[in-house]
Amino acid sequence: MVIIGAGVAGLSAGCYARMNGYSTTILEMHTRPGGLCTQWTRNGYVIDGCVHWLVGSAPGHPFYRLWQELGVLPGPSIIDREVFVRVEGEGDKALVVYSDVDRLQAHLLEIAGEDAGQIKEFIRGIRRMGRLTSAPRSIAHWPRVLRLLASLPGILLGVLALRRWRSVTVSEFASSFENEFLREAFVHVLDFPEFPMVGLMMTLAWLDQGAAGYPVGGSQVLADALERRYLELGGEIQYGERVAEILVENDAAVGVRLQDGREERADVVVSAADGHATIFELLGGRYVGERLQRTYDSDPIFPPLLHVAFGVARDLPELSDSVVGIVFPLHEPVTIDCQRHTSIAACAYGFDPSLAPPGKTVLKVMLPSDHARWAALAEDPDAYRSAKEDAAAQVLNALEQRFPGLADEVEMTDVATPITWARYTGNWQGSFEGWLLTTKNLGRQLPRTLPGLRQFYMAGQWVVPGGGLPTAAQSGRTVVRQICAASRKRFVTSLPAPIGGEDADV
Ligand SMILES: Cc1cc2nc3c(=O)[nH]c(=O)nc-3n(C[C@H](O)[C@H](O)[C@H](O)COP(=O)(O)OP(=O)(O)OC[C@H]3O[C@@H](n4cnc5c(N)ncnc54)[C@H](O)[C@@H]3O)c2cc1C
Repeated sequence: MVIIGAGVAGLSAGCYARMNGYSTTILEMHTRPGGLCTQWTRNGYVIDGCVHWLVGSAPGHPFYRLWQELGVLPGPSIIDREVFVRVEGEGDKALVVYSDVDRLQAHLLEIAGEDAGQIKEFIRGIRRMGRLTSAPRSIAHWPRVLRLLASLPGILLGVLALRRWRSVTVSEFASSFENEFLREAFVHVLDFPEFPMVGLMMTLAWLDQGAAGYPVGGSQVLADALERRYLELGGEIQYGERVAEILVENDAAVGVRLQDGREERADVVVSAADGHATIFELLGGRYVGERLQRTYDSDPIFPPLLHVAFGVARDLPELSDSVVGIVFPLHEPVTIDCQRHTSIAACAYGFDPSLAPPGKTVLKVMLPSDHARWAALAEDPDAYRSAKEDAAAQVLNALEQRFPGLADEVEMTDVATPITWARYTGNWQGSFEGWLLTTKNLGRQLPRTLPGLRQFYMAGQWVVPGGGLPTAAQSGRTVVRQICAASRKRFVTSLPAPIGGEDADV
């Protein structure tokens, strides 16, 4: 089996393929594993380009077993933060989205007693959705069938909650509040106001359960653990090898051609690389089908990011207990990357001492950006550099409004643009999570095979709207299961020693 890409999906597919006896080679164009799950170092500061929360970080959550099989957990220490996000208003007004749902309810009711009905329904929905992924602790030792039966009422309530909320967006819910501050603040809880409430509520349910923590050491720790597990399972991986074409004979994938012209033959090809490049470049657009073509023509993607990080000689404790940081208003609006901002979101990594020298912190701002603009700028290296410098200066102007004196404490500045993401990971327009989750595509998956093409499969964030680390890892598992089923093989999984040995998946 040849697997294109050593991101989370490709490494996961490689691990499960090895567990099931396939001989595997992963071809990765970069010089290291992880794809989007990555970090880099500047002037003694480590900039994490990915993980804020790892869904499945605690035993009992269904994804925990996936991370165990992949050798990721147990491993790094996991930090559960008290707050998801803090949205600040004028004066000392603040909406604090606590990870603890009881505390969140009390806080929301304190802000807006007049909206008690909506608030209680929202909290009840979070609790019910949480029951979809957790069985009561008291029955943890029961046999599997009894556990399942005992969980059924909870699952039913969870499904009803999903149905109730599935067509509601964050901005629609925000506008339902009578309280003016809550109405304005709630829309900033996520970067994407049109995101489905279900996505937000599931995340809050997992935070409440302590199952969406942060792995100390960050993204590289995850990527390295995955690579280690794959190599221990006997897989082969080649770095610095860009696949230029998927070889097809008689409508069956038979291998790949690398950029330098060499060929690598295979019985099965799995692409865990960017979906658009796989379908329209590596396969020349010959196996698309109407439905998939429509998706690629019109469905929205997560916009690429302008990612600005500062290493500051300050520890910013006010940001250290939060998953995604704070959103604060700007008294003097700033224009960054051609967009005017009246508020801005920032996060800091004070909770992970491995990312900065003692007493210092990485402070980060991520803004939706425009790939076409940066692609045009990149034609002229001087213009590109100067646009990056300008963006960093404007972001710093904005941060100074909330953290006076910060500019004097900046020891490191790093700007990554949509071109950076596209160059290092090959993702279409530099998108950071593939297809944007919407109320229309919620729960939907794209096909992992292409019409008319045999011996070929796809995995990763471009086959599951919403993307994310567990989704990518799960898709690697699912694709190998599908490959096993196609050749009537029993799909098996194993846990790394010393956790356990081989066991069958049912
Ligand atoms: C800023 C940021 C924050 C995020 N935060 C979180 C978070 O907190 N929690 C979470 O769950 N998710 C988060 N994500 C999303 C998550 O990182 C991704 O959804 C996930 O890593 C996607 O994995 P993947 O394997 O599908 O794709 P990728 O990571 O894109 O992997 C694809 C791999 O294929 C390689 N490749 C591409 N083309 C070729 C080719 N032609 N030949 C050879 N190799 C090729 C690439 O180099 C890459 O290594 C975040 C992402 C970003 C950018």
